[in-house]
Amino acid sequence: MEIKKIAVIGAGTMGNGIAHVFALNGFDVRLVDIKQEYLDKALATITKNLDRQVKKEKISEEEKNETLSKLNLLVGVENIPSETDLVIEAVVENREIKQSIFKTLEANIKPEAIFASNTSSISITELSSVCRDDRFIGMHFMNPVPVMKLIEIIRGYSTSDETYETIRDLSVKLGKTPVEVQDYPGFISNRVLLPMINEAIYALYEGVASAEDIDTVMKLGMNHPMGPLTLADFIGLDVCLDIMNVLYEGFNDSKYRPCPLLKKMVAAKKLGRKSGEGFFKYE
Ligand code: NAD
Repeated sequence: MEIKKIAVIGAGTMGNGIAHVFALNGFDVRLVDIKQEYLDKALATITKNLDRQVKKEKISEEEKNETLSKLNLLVGVENIPSETDLVIEAVVENREIKQSIFKTLEANIKPEAIFASNTSSISITELSSVCRDDRFIGMHFMNPVPVMKLIEIIRGYSTSDETYETIRDLSVKLGKTPVEVQDYPGFISNRVLLPMINEAIYALYEGVASAEDIDTVMKLGMNHPMGPLTLADFIGLDVCLDIMNVLYEGFNDSKYRPCPLLKKMVAAKKLGRKSGEGFFKYE
């Protein structure tokens, strides 16, 4: 199936990046949210990010203008045109909101269209249970989307080979590297990353070393660009705790238990960069 017309639902951090990348690669994109002001803010962000790409000579001024001409803003999921080929959902991480959106789409969008979700932690199989489960897939982009090369493509229980192949080929057309992943908690990225971060927090909690020294070991010893505690602050400690709970509950395995220090810091609203303090302090 040839994909030409895309709708991206949710114009937040991820949605504006996903819309940016599709429009830059010549697709017709509708960016959808619940309020015009969120869409205007997203368009301003996309324009700023395109300007940065022009300045760095990654794209020309003409490519920037073509990209912007491919972008249309739309309020309300129910207004997405039926002839859309692919809908990518990137709204808040809430199962009920996502499923209600997919129910609306199921009633309005042509049956051949593919539905994708950018969820970080909700089961693709569960989300697909309210709609066309064979033409449903996970497209897990990384933040910031225009910069990061990876897309984890998550196959739900019923995702067809045709759907998978269409989305894999499309990801390559976007200049990204797709990886095929089965639908289990945390997929690959968060299943490997978050237990490492949680273990770094345990090392701090048990007094093995200071936060600075734990990060130094991983930066200088393992060549990680950022230490695990700095990365936790960047992701947000509340998001880290949510993902650890998804792994813990999803596998029913104590090896994923969130560190008590992580739980205490979230309770104290020390959420990392966004609250001004986590394992480190921010101005
Ligand atoms: P965000 O809060 O920045 O943006 C969410 C947007 O969805 C908001 O603009 C909100 O108005 C909109 N929205 C909410 N309900 C809606 C509805 N019913 N219809 C249309 N729009 C609606 O969130 P985000 O960080 O961009 O995350 C979005 C998704 O991407 C989540 O599922 C998250 O797990 C996933 N994700 C996030 C990251 C990340 O680093 N932020 C990385 C990978 C995946």
